[in-house]
This record gives sequence, structure tokens and C-alpha cells, in this order.
Amino acid sequence: MTDQSPADLAPRILASDRRALARAITLVESGRAEHRAQAVELLDTLAGEGRQALRIGLSGTPGVGKSTFIEAFGMMLTGKGLKVAVLAVDPSSARSGGSILGDKTRMERLSRDPNAFIRPSPSQAHLGGVARRTREAVSLCEAAGFDVVLIETVGVGQSETLVAEMVDLFVLLMAPAGGDELQGVKRGIMEMADLILVNKADGDLKPAAMRTVSDYAGALRLLRKRPQDPEGFPKALPVSAMEENGLEKAWEEMTALAEWRRANGHFDQRRAEQARHWFEAEVREGLLARLRRDPEIRAKMRELGDAVASGESAASAAAAVMLEQLGG
Ligand code: GDP
Repeated sequence: MTDQSPADLAPRILASDRRALARAITLVESGRAEHRAQAVELLDTLAGEGRQALRIGLSGTPGVGKSTFIEAFGMMLTGKGLKVAVLAVDPSSARSGGSILGDKTRMERLSRDPNAFIRPSPSQAHLGGVARRTREAVSLCEAAGFDVVLIETVGVGQSETLVAEMVDLFVLLMAPAGGDELQGVKRGIMEMADLILVNKADGDLKPAAMRTVSDYAGALRLLRKRPQDPEGFPKALPVSAMEENGLEKAWEEMTALAEWRRANGHFDQRRAEQARHWFEAEVREGLLARLRRDPEIRAKMRELGDAVASGESAASAAAAVMLEQLGG
């Protein structure tokens, strides 16, 4: 495919050609070596352009209203003249065979909006692959001139941590809940959040939603103050994605926080740390891949692994033998 070459794709992406963007994302998702080489060249070319979007992570359990929220929030942003890209991280899709986040009926209005771009999660085997794909897709969307990149993830396992490591702001979408449900919310997740939005603050659920907001606000006040936060953050707010209430306020808080962090150096510092983190992760992954490719090393790994599995050697001792062999 000639129209997949970096030389051809780069200018088209810079000109916001959505087909070129989609093709480039397919390229970064590919497991084939020649595609990888093209993807790397393309990403490197585009990195020099220095275009930046506000990267927002959005997490929440299934049914909390993520797609309803993203559709309403996304439409509001495009209504302001902003270009919005939506990417999904759904590690569970690899197991279930089909992505819930890839459901075509989701975000129907937003997907028809010329200023929006929606890309569902691919079926990838492991979280590391999903991480790289998403991170690279974010870069491609930035190069294509998107102002806001929303990264959606289901609130399960490590996917939140992974997304938190590639965004500027992390938003948790929660459902109205009783006090004891709040106890069950993992502290680590609370600590990652910049903003907790309690959705479904409408109709019969409104009183429960308002109580939940003050419960979360109370819990957030107990957390250690982070240097990257101005007074009052992290914050909890009520929203209704369905009635499109509270969305403007949520956006105001997001932009206020991002601006404060920009003005105080935290924004760039965090991006720099994230870039370094991903660079090191790439090197680590690459080294492991190289080890797995070498038949001699693989045989040695198997042999030592067997010794560890049978209780003949201690894991750390076997690892030391392996490392010594590699280093020597
Ligand atoms: P997701 O699984 O997190 O993407 O959740 P969905 O957006 O698919 O929403 C799950 C259900 O909650 C759907 O039946 C929505 O209509 C409903 N829902 C979403 N947002 C709201 C809201 O703001 N208020 C109410 N009452 N229901 C909502």
C-alpha cells in the first residue's frame, strides 16, 4: 500500500485528513515489523511539529454513563469550535472478543460530527500493546490538530493507571451511591482523579447524586494535598449526561486546572516525566522482545524457569545466573 508510507501520510495528517489519521492509527496498531518501522518513522516526523491537545482521561464502570457523557460533552466542545478526538482503552475486549466500547451505536451524534473523531479500542492481547497503541494514537490526533483528546477506559484493573500515565487530566465518572459503596472505591483511584463527576444527577436520582458528591468531596479533602493542584482540587461535581447539565461547569473546572498547571510549570513537567516513562517502557519492552527472539536465550530461560518451578533453584538466584549470562 503506497498511501501508507510516512512521507505520504504525514502531510495529510497535518492537514487534518481524517482518513489519513485513521490509516495511521491502523498502522500503529499493526503487529507487523514493516508497519512498525513505518509507524515509528511517521511518529518521529510528526513529533517535530510540536502540536498539543488537552489530553483528558475518563474512567468509570460499565453503565455509569461514559458514552452518554462523552457524546454530550463532546458535542458541547465541538459547539465551541473545538476539535475532539475520542480514543478507547478496553483491555477486556481482547477477552470478550468484541469491544463494548467499539459498539457502533455508541455516540452516534458525535460520530457524525465533522469536528469529532472516534476510535474504538482494538482487540489487543496485552495491556502493554494497548498502552503503546493508545499513546501513539494520541500523538497522531495531536498532530492532526485536535484540541481535546478524550481517552475513555472502563474502570477495571490496571487500565486506569495506564491511562493516567498518558493524560493531562484524569476524570472519574461515578454513579450516585450509598455511603458504604463509597467505602469500596479504591483509594488509589481516588488519588489519581483530578475531578470526580457524579453522573445521573437528575430526576429521582438527584438527591442521591448530591449526597454522593458531598461524600466524595469529603473523602477528597482527606487526601494528601498534591503539589500539582491549586486550592480546592481534586473536586467532586454533579452532572447529568442525559439532561446535559453540569457539563459547562465540568469543562470550566478542567480548563481552570490545566491553566493553573501550565502557569505553574506542572503541566510541562508532567508531560516530560510521562515521555521519559514511556521511553523507558519501550526500551524495556524492546529488550524483552529481543530476549524472546534469541533461541539460545529462550532455551536458557526455559531451563532456569524449570529449575525454579520445580523448587530446585530460588527465583532470584536463577535470575542472577540469567543476567550474568546476558551481561557476559
Ligand atoms: P457506559 O457503559 O458507562 O458507557 O454507560 P452508558 O452511557 O451506556 O449509559 C448507561 C445507562 O445509563 C444508559 O441506559 C443511559 O441512558 C443511562 N444514563 C447515562 N447518563 C445518564 C444520566 O445522566 N442520567 C440518567 N438518569 N441516566 C443516564
